[in-house]
Amino acid sequence: MRIEQDDPAFRRWVSSLDCCIPGCKTPGIHPHHVKLKSQGGKDPMNVIPICWKHHTECHDNKQGMIMFFIDHNIDPFIIAGDVTGLYESITDAFGYGCPL
Ligand SMILES: [Zn+2]
Ligand SMILES: [Zn+2]
Repeated sequence: MRIEQDDPAFRRWVSSLDCCIPGCKTPGIHPHHVKLKSQGGKDPMNVIPICWKHHTECHDNKQGMIMFFIDHNIDPFIIAGDVTGLYESITDAFGYGCPL
C-alpha cells in the first residue's frame, strides 16, 4: 500500500511510537520530517517519531539538524525507513486504518 506521509492515520500512528532518541521514553508526538517538505521531502519514508523536547533541540541545534542526530548516534533515514516498513506490515496484516 502506498502511504502518504500526511495521511492522518499514519501520522497518528507515528505519534504513538516512542521518541526515536535512544533512552527517551516519551511518546514521539511531534513527528519530524527528516528532509524538509520544501526540499522534496514528500516521501513517507521521511517521518520519524520524536518528542517535543528533542524536536525543539533538533531544530535549534547550532551545528545543524543532521549533527543533532549524529550526536545521538542515530541515522534518521534508517529510522524513517523502519517506521514506514513497520506501518506497512501492520496495515497489510490488519487492513487500512491501523487499529492503534
Ligand atoms: Zn522537525
Ligand atoms: Zn525524546
